[in-house]
Amino acid sequence: MSPQLQAPADIAKLANNRPVVMLTGRANVGKSTLFNRLTGAAQAITSPIAGTTRDLNLATTSHDGCEFVVIDSGGLELYAREPMAERAMEEALRALGAADLIVFVVDGRTGILSGDEEALALVRQTGRPIIAAVNKVDHPRQEAMAAEAWGLGVESVIFVSAAHGRGVDDLMEQIRAHLPARETQPELRPVLRLALLGRPNVGKSSLLNRLCGFSRALVDEHPGTTRDPVEVPVQVNGHTLLIIDTAGVRRPARVEGELEHHAVGRAISTIRRADVLALVVDGAEGVTDQDARLARLVDSNGRALLIICNKWDIAASRGHRVPAFVHEIRQSYPFLNFAPIVITSARNGDGVSQIVPTASIAGEAWRAEFRTVTLNHILAEAIAAQDPPLVDERRLKPMYVTQVATAPPRFAVFCNLDQDIPAHYLRFLAGRFRAALGLENCGTPLRIEFRRARRSHGAREQSGRSAARKLTGAQPPASPDAGNAPR
Ligand code: GDP
Repeated sequence: MSPQLQAPADIAKLANNRPVVMLTGRANVGKSTLFNRLTGAAQAITSPIAGTTRDLNLATTSHDGCEFVVIDSGGLELYAREPMAERAMEEALRALGAADLIVFVVDGRTGILSGDEEALALVRQTGRPIIAAVNKVDHPRQEAMAAEAWGLGVESVIFVSAAHGRGVDDLMEQIRAHLPARETQPELRPVLRLALLGRPNVGKSSLLNRLCGFSRALVDEHPGTTRDPVEVPVQVNGHTLLIIDTAGVRRPARVEGELEHHAVGRAISTIRRADVLALVVDGAEGVTDQDARLARLVDSNGRALLIICNKWDIAASRGHRVPAFVHEIRQSYPFLNFAPIVITSARNGDGVSQIVPTASIAGEAWRAEFRTVTLNHILAEAIAAQDPPLVDERRLKPMYVTQVATAPPRFAVFCNLDQDIPAHYLRFLAGRFRAALGLENCGTPLRIEFRRARRSHGAREQSGRSAARKLTGAQPPASPDAGNAPR
C-alpha cells in the first residue's frame, strides 16, 4: 500500500512538474467515468490521501502536445450526504489548491442542485480557474435542458457524455487552453485582413498607394486590366495586418455609377476575402444609398467595418465641417452606427495614418471573446433596468447569456421563449452589451439570438426579476428545505 499523501506537496511531487487538472463535484455526477475517458488507457496511480479515508486516482494524459496529470478527487468529496469533518474538508480544499485547473463536474440530467452550488462555492475558495463539465448529456437535444449550468457563473461550460465520449475532445481542448502556457509555445495570433471597398472613383487606389507605398500600379493606369489581389503586410501595435489590394482588380468599363449585378458579386468576393472592410466614400458627396448598400453587405457577411470619408480636401474647400458631416451620417444611416468614421484626403495624406489603427481596433473587437460572468452581469443589469417585454401575453424571461461564436461576437440569451421577440428589445439589449463591453462605434457587428432554455423537471419558476437577482449573485431569502432540492 502506498504511503499516505500529504496534499498538496505530494501531489506536486507525483505530477513531476506537469500541470495538474483536478476533477471534482458532488457524488454520482460521473467523475470516475470522466476520469477514465480523459486518461484513456493510461495507468492510474491510486494513493490514499491524508485526511480522508478514500483513495485519490492520478494518471498522466496529453492533448495536442500538452501533457498533464488528471486527478479524480473522488476521495475528496466536497459535498457528501453525511457532513464532512472540518479538518477533512480543509485537507480536501488544500489538495484542490494543488491543481492548476479544476474541472467541476455536474450532472446534466438532474440539473443543477443546491449541492452543486455549495460544492462550487468551496471550490471557488481555491482561487483556481474552473471549467464546468456538464456530464450525462448524451445527445445534443439535452443541451438546452442542461443550459442552466451557465447560471453557475463559471466561464467555460462544456457538455459531455463520459459514458459515450461525446464532448470529451472539446473538454480536453478547453483544459489545454486553460493550462499555463508552455514556454516553447509561440503566440499564435492570426493576422487581420483589411480590404478597401467602395464605388468607383472614391479614391480606393489612391488610399492604397498611401497605405502601401507607391510600389503598386499607378492610379487609373490601364483601366480594364485585371491582376491578382496583392496582400501587403503592415505592422500596427505589434501585430501584423494584411491589406488586401483588390483595387488593382480592375472593373470592366461601364460599371461606373450603378452597382450592377457583377459589381455586387465583386464586392461580395472582396468582403469574403477580408476580416475588416474599410468602406471608402466620397467625402465631398457624403454617404450615398449605394455606399449604404455596400455597408449592408459587409454587415450581412458578418465582417468588421469602418467608413473612410475621403477627398476631405475638396469637402473642406466647400466649407463642410466634420462634426456636422458625421452627425448627418449617423442620422441618415443609423444601422451604420457601429462603424467608426475616419476622415481622409488621399491627395494630401491627411487622416490616412488613422486607417490602420482604427481597422486594427475593429478587428480585435470582431474577434473578442467575453467572459460569461461578465455577460451575465450585463444581462442582469439590463433586466433590472427595464422589464423584458410581453410576447403573446407571456413575459419574456431571459435567464442566462453566453458567447457562442466570435468573428463577429454572437451571444445566445437563454429564455423561456425564442420566437417573436420584439426588435426594440433586441436593440435595447444590443445597446446595453455594446456600452458595457466598449463595443460602441468600434466597427464590429454584434449578433444576439434568443434560445429557449428548458428547465429540468421540478425546476423552480423564476420571474425575470428573480433571474436578475440570481445573475447578480444576490442571495434570495434562505428556505428551510434548501438542502439538496432541485433549484
Ligand atoms: P478608385 O476608383 O476608388 O480606386 O479611385 P482612384 O484612387 O482611382 O481615384 C479616383 C480619382 O480621385 C483620381 O483622379 C484621384 O487622383 C482622385 N482622388 C483620390 N483621392 C483623392 C482625395 O483625397 N482628394 C482629391 N482631391 N482627389 C482624390
